[in-house]
Amino acid sequence: MARVLLEDIKRKFNNVTAIEDITFEIPDGEFWVLVGPSGCGKSTILRTIAGLETATSGKLFIGDQLVNTVPARARDVAMVFQNYALYPHLTVGENIAFGLKMRKVDPKIIQDRVVNVARSLSLEHLLDRKPKQLSGGQQQRVALGRAIAREPQVFLLDEPLSNLDAQLRDDTRAELKQLHQQLGVTTIYVTHDQVEAMTLADQIVVLNRGRIQQIGDPQTIYARPANQMVATFLGSPPMNILPAIYKNGCFDVSGQLIEIPPFIQDNLQIPQGQSIDLGIRPEHMTISEDSGLSVEVKVIEPLGRETLVRAGLPGATTLLNIQLNGNVRLHPGDRLHLQLDLHQLFVFDPKTGDRLLPQD
Ligand code: ATP
Repeated sequence: MARVLLEDIKRKFNNVTAIEDITFEIPDGEFWVLVGPSGCGKSTILRTIAGLETATSGKLFIGDQLVNTVPARARDVAMVFQNYALYPHLTVGENIAFGLKMRKVDPKIIQDRVVNVARSLSLEHLLDRKPKQLSGGQQQRVALGRAIAREPQVFLLDEPLSNLDAQLRDDTRAELKQLHQQLGVTTIYVTHDQVEAMTLADQIVVLNRGRIQQIGDPQTIYARPANQMVATFLGSPPMNILPAIYKNGCFDVSGQLIEIPPFIQDNLQIPQGQSIDLGIRPEHMTISEDSGLSVEVKVIEPLGRETLVRAGLPGATTLLNIQLNGNVRLHPGDRLHLQLDLHQLFVFDPKTGDRLLPQD
């Protein structure tokens, strides 16, 4: 087990800068998730830590060792990819043992480790099968087993669940979390799935266009997103963004006025007439008989425990996501009034995306 420290890491491919200004320290034993949209640089960071890419500049430490020039095989990290690439001609047991055999570990130790790893991943009864005789989830567990058996200092997981169907994905996600709690090995996990990021991480690193947007624990990232990109990326359905103008003690949302209470007014340091983006999560709106934003219901999605409603402001093209408790009887075309919980309101600068409110 080891800490992992990245200091100002940059990676350029010819004239394309894939990542830059990447600085963070993962304490020994923690589970960190790198998350962001396609092309944001997640895999490049992971591959750089693995030694499969070389940083153009910056320093990378595993434990106390500077590893920039240390080859991948000498880094004592184990990587699991989305495409788990098991050896088809080897059995499950031989696949799990493979890395240890290559390192010429004592056969008795290999045997013990394979049995222990297979037990922790519920693979004991499959040790003699070949990969093609396994389900996708079982194959993925074998790939994890092969990484675990090596007892590396760091696990690097690149979208390891994305080939699994929804149910298996949920189950394997929970197993992974449990496994990390048991083994306590420093883990870096790449995903574009915000549910995986929120559920697995001690700390989340949100990336966009090769740069870190925010580092924080899941609750902080959700409750205090640094900017509009983070706010709209984490959360499902995503946060609603309402373009508005700040004037005369109100937010003007396409001609409809939201009166601003003193606790917002006192903290909003912007001039009258300025355009802003309001952010409100789907769970922070309620239906009112007579007051609030007037919207028209477009789509209703009953989910049993809750109902998702998509509704449009008059004249606006984007729909608002509204999450209502229980089973709500609504029809497309119904007109509603929406009350926003102003204690949960975010205000962003539309030019920079920075969060103006709530302040830290
Ligand atoms: P995805 O979720 O789609 O896998 P990602 O966040 O993992 O994306 P990276 O694969 O790290 O993104 O890529 C970051 C950027 O670097 C992208 O713009 C990509 O096109 C570019 N890039 C990555 N590898 C190379 C390469 N070998 N040559 C040129 N550009 C590259």
